[in-house]
Amino acid sequence: MVEENSNFEIVLPDGTMYKPEKDDRQKRQSIQGYDPEGKPKKMIFSIKTGCDRCGECCRRDTPIILKEDIPLLTKGIISEKDIYTIREGEKMRSSIDGDTYYSSMEIIKIRPIFGSFTCLFYDPVEGCTIYEQRPTVCRQYECWSQNIAITGLEGRRLTRAHLFGGIDFIKETIKKHEEYCSLTKFQDLIDELKKGKEENVEKIAEMILYDSSLRDWIKEKLELSDDILPLLFGKTLLELATFYGLIIEKEGENFLIKVIQEEET
Ligand code: SF4
Ligand code: SF4
Repeated sequence: MVEENSNFEIVLPDGTMYKPEKDDRQKRQSIQGYDPEGKPKKMIFSIKTGCDRCGECCRRDTPIILKEDIPLLTKGIISEKDIYTIREGEKMRSSIDGDTYYSSMEIIKIRPIFGSFTCLFYDPVEGCTIYEQRPTVCRQYECWSQNIAITGLEGRRLTRAHLFGGIDFIKETIKKHEEYCSLTKFQDLIDELKKGKEENVEKIAEMILYDSSLRDWIKEKLELSDDILPLLFGKTLLELATFYGLIIEKEGENFLIKVIQEEET
């Protein structure tokens, strides 16, 4: 990026001078400060007025995919393996404030790089690798303005029904999965277990087994790869278990389920 007062210039072959224009995505401002000797000195800083592709938002979270982004999927810019489902009622940790939330609706997002919040399409050197064809949410996000929330998400979000609604077999399997592995039911069973309802251990184990067997079954039946399962059914209950307060260990064919004891405050 060229600084406002940069002397950078090139003499072109025809003898004319080229001097880059001031980058209009950065506005230089100053405030009055003091130097170490106490003399007044202006402190210069820049504020953004446009996206300079710093990648900060890409490292913080991944974008929600909207219906208007379907062309990115049909053109293959984003594949079904690059996205996953957050189910209604799913417990999530916000990358912004670190707090816990429950998703009020089903959404589909770009997957993060494993073990981070960073978007799969972010490259530390190149920045966004699909910048010219990035999803709507990334285009509309303006970190420099107050305009950072997505409006009308309920009506604009892409769901599994939009992608698979026309394929009866998949639609029915997703419906069955939601019925047997509802996250609200999962949370309720865990809450009751924490209060001493030991018989819930078996019910929780059944849910986890159902979740994993259904994935294996459809994978084999339709010859699917593992990568598409997070889009079809969201995160596995086994993956979510720790976040819901359970420790699950496998002992041979059996699961050992323990409750993570919350520290008393
Ligand atoms: S929108 Fe994101 S990538 Fe663009 S300048 Fe803001 S934080 Fe950086
Ligand atoms: S799609 Fe591109 S712009 Fe959007 S979060 Fe990912 S890396 Fe950033």
